[in-house]
Amino acid sequence: MPELPEVAALADFLRERTSGRTVAAVEVGSIAALKTFDPPVDALAGREVTDVARHGKWLDLVASAAPTSPGHGGAPLHLVFHLSRGGWVRWSDALSTKPVRPSLGGSSRGAILALRVRLDDGSGFDLTEAGTRKRLAVHVVRDPAEVEMIASLGVEPLAPEFTTEVLAGLLSARNQQIKGLLRDQRAIAGIGNAYSDEILHAGRFSPYKQTGSFTPEETARLHTAIGEVLAEAIAAASGKPAKELKDAKRAGMRVHGRTGLPCPGWNGIPCGDIVHEVSFADRSMQYCPTCQTGGKPLADRRMSKLLR
Ligand SMILES: [Zn+2]
Repeated sequence: MPELPEVAALADFLRERTSGRTVAAVEVGSIAALKTFDPPVDALAGREVTDVARHGKWLDLVASAAPTSPGHGGAPLHLVFHLSRGGWVRWSDALSTKPVRPSLGGSSRGAILALRVRLDDGSGFDLTEAGTRKRLAVHVVRDPAEVEMIASLGVEPLAPEFTTEVLAGLLSARNQQIKGLLRDQRAIAGIGNAYSDEILHAGRFSPYKQTGSFTPEETARLHTAIGEVLAEAIAAASGKPAKELKDAKRAGMRVHGRTGLPCPGWNGIPCGDIVHEVSFADRSMQYCPTCQTGGKPLADRRMSKLLR
């Protein structure tokens, strides 16, 4: 799933290509992906794209007020979407002129075309989704805050407001595992399963460490790790075209998705251990026992089978 660094790069990528262009048409491929019906997607046609913004892991294509259609005019419209696990943006300088045929979606195993945005010069982009569980969500709204999951987003971790004191407040608000807090969009916006693994490794914390147990020194270390890991990932993703972002994300990982490979250690000194994992029904997390859990592997059925 794309997280803050990839979504930020996607926003830059789309902003560069769509700003100043007029939306020619929006075609729905998957009716299940479209979560709103008023205003209709057709209301975007004829409007100029003025910006592409990011809210947490959400993308927000902003279309100007439409002077030509009084019924829908007045305020700008926002096409906001969340790519979720299998969703992606596919850009084309010259889209096929064949209209997209709508389907109910949800049942197909392969990648589906959920939504197509056509611009006035024939270019545009598709929102696609792969996998059996289709969760891509598209909303057309007058204000992004109309989407509850956007309105409830927590602090942006790279914004100046995200101070060590703010992090301390989040840690002490409710005692829970740190891994869960980092992924909680209502606490901190934009961090998911992959970057929380990376942040915990960079800060040398067990994913199970209780948030109530953080000392001021540990809180400061975690704050630094969040900032450094995300800034580094943004630098790596920035300027890359949409189709290269997934590989760039994978290549930059220290522990996430690297089960069984040598841990890169920290401060440039390898620790000699290998990356371990704990697997759950729908995801897994990776960590290094030497760097993060005092050398003691966390319990995991699959991992113990792998090592036997
Ligand atoms: Zn290590």
